[in-house]
Amino acid sequence: MSRLFSLIFAFGAVLAAQTPQPPDWARVEEETMRHFQALLRFDTSDPPGTEIAAADYLKKVLEAEGIAVETFALEPHRPNVVARLKGSGARRPLLIMGHTDVVNVDPKKWAHPPFGAAREGGYVYGRGTVDDKDNVVAALMAMLLLKRQNVPLDRDVIFLAEAGEEGSTRVGIQYMVNEHFAQIDAEYCLAEGGSVTRAGGRVKFASVQTLEKIPRGIELTARGPAGHGSVPLRTNAILHLANAIGKVSAWKPPIRLNDTTRAYFTRLAGLSAPDDATRYLAIVGSDAKAASAAEEYFLAQEPRHASMLRTSVSPNIIQGGYRINVIPSEARATLDVRVHPDDDHVKFIEEVRKVIDDPAVEVQWVQRDVRPGSGSARLDSDAVKAIESAINRHYEAVMLPTMSTGATDMAYLRAKGVQCYGIGPGTDLEDGPKGYGAHSDQERILEQELHRFVRFHYDIVTNLAGKSQGLWRLWSPASGLWSLAITRSGIADPRIRDE
Ligand SMILES: [Zn+2]
Repeated sequence: MSRLFSLIFAFGAVLAAQTPQPPDWARVEEETMRHFQALLRFDTSDPPGTEIAAADYLKKVLEAEGIAVETFALEPHRPNVVARLKGSGARRPLLIMGHTDVVNVDPKKWAHPPFGAAREGGYVYGRGTVDDKDNVVAALMAMLLLKRQNVPLDRDVIFLAEAGEEGSTRVGIQYMVNEHFAQIDAEYCLAEGGSVTRAGGRVKFASVQTLEKIPRGIELTARGPAGHGSVPLRTNAILHLANAIGKVSAWKPPIRLNDTTRAYFTRLAGLSAPDDATRYLAIVGSDAKAASAAEEYFLAQEPRHASMLRTSVSPNIIQGGYRINVIPSEARATLDVRVHPDDDHVKFIEEVRKVIDDPAVEVQWVQRDVRPGSGSARLDSDAVKAIESAINRHYEAVMLPTMSTGATDMAYLRAKGVQCYGIGPGTDLEDGPKGYGAHSDQERILEQELHRFVRFHYDIVTNLAGKSQGLWRLWSPASGLWSLAITRSGIADPRIRDE
């Protein structure tokens, strides 16, 4: 009998030695902050997007950990960084990514220098804090921890820090997908585009981006005879252009819903006050009158929700005329068009021509970095299960699948069949209107939410890529008891539970 006990004990000790220990999160926080601040201090404004210093830094940090790194550059000062941790190959790889470039800044508008990474009052300030150096550092930390904790993997985990997301994807994700796809080909990918929404300091819900609209541009050119300003003409190009803009802006293309937006509005209703909930349910319901009333409300009060319903048009540039007493012969406007993923852009521009219905106005596509369209990432995948359970553990919140009205690099990967999910850290709903959101005149992140995001991200990665635990891994080294839950390696850290 005692021999049996010692056998069990020895067996347990072997298992305990092989089970990855949870990271020391206090030390991870220090290290995260060091890398995060270093990344923020590189001015990677795009344009010109000199991402090389950030890329070199990432390469050095990964290589110091013994992780092999490759860089791929279409333009020498704009490299993309790729690193890979090998798994057993039982399942196809997981890609974790973030872009190193940031949008431009007007330094005069910043109380803290945009590339200073100042820490104050529980925040880190700087361009890129929530777009997208948060995802870069979380992916970096995941790589370092997987390696350091020696987490056995069922699939390769690929790290990608890509250049050029903010308007020059030809050097970034397009280049990687077109020229080096084998280096990043994966079953799943995690990237930016999601968020955890807090209001009054409390987590409300977690958005996971599974789909996005496709940016395109339409140019309207109105032409008519030039003339003397003292003799108004009905053929005035500016007049025709203004009418065309008015008509296309008032036009409401048909509402389109898909699995993502249906789930989004339905789940959001469950979290909302009664009036709001009624509208969200009306949008996905069968009562056309109620849907139309809800839509009117969105157009006035919740414009992002209105945009999620259809292909949208926003007149954002207008040019025409050069002096007060001359009727110009030409005027132009550029429309920002966000094509709904279920819409057909060729039919759409035909509809725009019909709506404008004016032979004096030419309607054509304008040059733009057009992302490929794709279907939604699956809502029932292993990745969604891993993300949803991590949301429960770290945020105790409901997951909302979301369709972005904006665009991300995931569009290129989804078009290649990669199931991509956009995630992001907790931010306060109140922070956007105060001017601290992504692309704002200032940008900041709560330190505690950055650290929580790193833990959340690592949890998803280990759950999704970690070796499946069979019965032999049920030994729990922490308690010395047999665990009843079948989990995957690395995630079962009771200390992960957050405030
Ligand atoms: Zn971004």
